[in-house]
Amino acid sequence: MATDLDIARAARLLPIQEIAARAGIPETALEPYGRHKAKVGLDFVAEQERMSAPRGALVLVTGISPTAAGEGKTTTTIGLGDALNSLGRKAMIALREPSLGPCFGVKGGATGGGRAQVAPMEEINLHFTGDFHAITSANNLLAAMLDNHLYWGNELGLDARRISWRRALDMNDRALRSINAALGGVPNGFPREDGFDITVASEVMAVFCLSKDLAELQQRLGRIIVGQTRDGRNVTAHDLKADGAMAALLRDALAPNLVQTLEGSPALVHGGPFANIAHGCNSVIATRLALRLADVVVTEAGFGADLGAEKFLDIKCRSAGLAPSACVVVATARALKMHGGVAKSALGAEDVAAVTRGAANLRRHVQNMQKFGLPVVVALNRFTSDTDAEIAAVQAAVRPLGVEAILCTHWADGAAGAADLARAVQALIAGGTASFEPLYNDHMSLQGKIETVAREIYHAASVSVPPPVAARLRRFEEQGFGHVPVCIAKTQYSFSADPALMGAPEGHVLPLREVRLSAGAGFVVAICGEIMTMPGLPRRPAAEGIGLDAEGRIEGLF
Ligand code: ADP
Ligand code: MG
Repeated sequence: MATDLDIARAARLLPIQEIAARAGIPETALEPYGRHKAKVGLDFVAEQERMSAPRGALVLVTGISPTAAGEGKTTTTIGLGDALNSLGRKAMIALREPSLGPCFGVKGGATGGGRAQVAPMEEINLHFTGDFHAITSANNLLAAMLDNHLYWGNELGLDARRISWRRALDMNDRALRSINAALGGVPNGFPREDGFDITVASEVMAVFCLSKDLAELQQRLGRIIVGQTRDGRNVTAHDLKADGAMAALLRDALAPNLVQTLEGSPALVHGGPFANIAHGCNSVIATRLALRLADVVVTEAGFGADLGAEKFLDIKCRSAGLAPSACVVVATARALKMHGGVAKSALGAEDVAAVTRGAANLRRHVQNMQKFGLPVVVALNRFTSDTDAEIAAVQAAVRPLGVEAILCTHWADGAAGAADLARAVQALIAGGTASFEPLYNDHMSLQGKIETVAREIYHAASVSVPPPVAARLRRFEEQGFGHVPVCIAKTQYSFSADPALMGAPEGHVLPLREVRLSAGAGFVVAICGEIMTMPGLPRRPAAEGIGLDAEGRIEGLF
């Protein structure tokens, strides 16, 4: 059977100028990176922002709680965009850039699959246009300037024990989670505990993705808090005079990247925060540009709707003034079978009862999206092993919610396989019933916001908040950060903080472990349970199967 990479490599791609023309982007606005990738110049982006209002309908693609069986949100985002274009709508796709962590770890790349992919697959998955390099560099420049400030006399009076800024690397590398830095004596500075986060979990990534232009980028960078003085005063990147140079490093990266799907639809692939430990969706700048160029913009939020979609709606849409017109929840019968208690090794056999049990997970995600005022359709992403009875069981499970589950075969068939889904989405947009409201208002206390998400979205009975964490939240409020939204970091595998609790658990307790203020990004990160901001590699990482063939072509990427 052809792999995703075989299919991608066999595709004949159009010159990026032609794709740009389809999207209404003139050649003069393009900065080509080779023949099939280009950045869209920030001058053009600014001109669009000035000259036109967003006119497109925004469609959010999200999914059930992920399992080892795979769900296909990116694949469905691409298939739906292709299908809308093939039906004569002007559609654009807005996706995140892949991180090398999952690429070489367990999950693989993030360019879709089968006949629904963005290309060039290898380049997008590996170095692409260098944005992650720029983001990593900006993060580490701030770290270097901070340690340099300590070295040269610490004029700002930073308390070395209260430094919160960490270094970053786009790699799963548990050895760097917690380190001692500046060892080796006087010429190397003052030894202190330090650590690395994966770039996609860094605040610079969040700042990058939430800024609508360069001015806002620099302001947000300046607000980043790196640590405190002995008397508890915050010290920022602006205090260290690092914000200008960080913005300079990020200038070119902030221009959105244009690529194409295998069927020639224009796709902006830009920014890439994780959804479990960060806010989980592509850049505001790309989404806002797409909404000015296209009739329909299809975008993905990472992991399950409890994480990616909640943050897309409560963080990104709130901050960027976006309001989706419709929501697609992606599910597979296989994954629902796992939510219904079937082991991965037994997924081959038909088990309608398990699908029906597992559909509780899908139903809860659908109802959660309805709480935000969004009309929902379920995309049932067909795997070849799914039986008709299992498909019917999923459809029956969501019908009482007034929601259709549309069978999709875009992975096997490309645009044609998502035509029914595209028609259903068009009907939701035309129906005009969306009335988007974030889940909580700005004025609620920070702890109240965390409790609201836990109760309304996770169906937790309560949140356990250790007293020092509650005190920290109150201190953030006293410092004037009470109005910001919360970015909850928790496992993607469950509505609870326990990855083994699949399906739709009720009445669990959400253990809040730690809170961090991301003043630049404009949210408070609430870390729940055992979640790592620097993942590790598995026993057999995907990297072991990746290499070059005799012609120097990359193999083993998926
Ligand atoms: P997500 O965005 O939800 O993480 P992706 O769209 O990246 O998921 O898909 C994950 C993997 O599953 C990809 O390798 C893709 O090729 C594969 N996949 C998606 N849909 C199907 C399908 N219908 N049949 C077989 N494999 C699929
Ligand atoms: Mg994805």
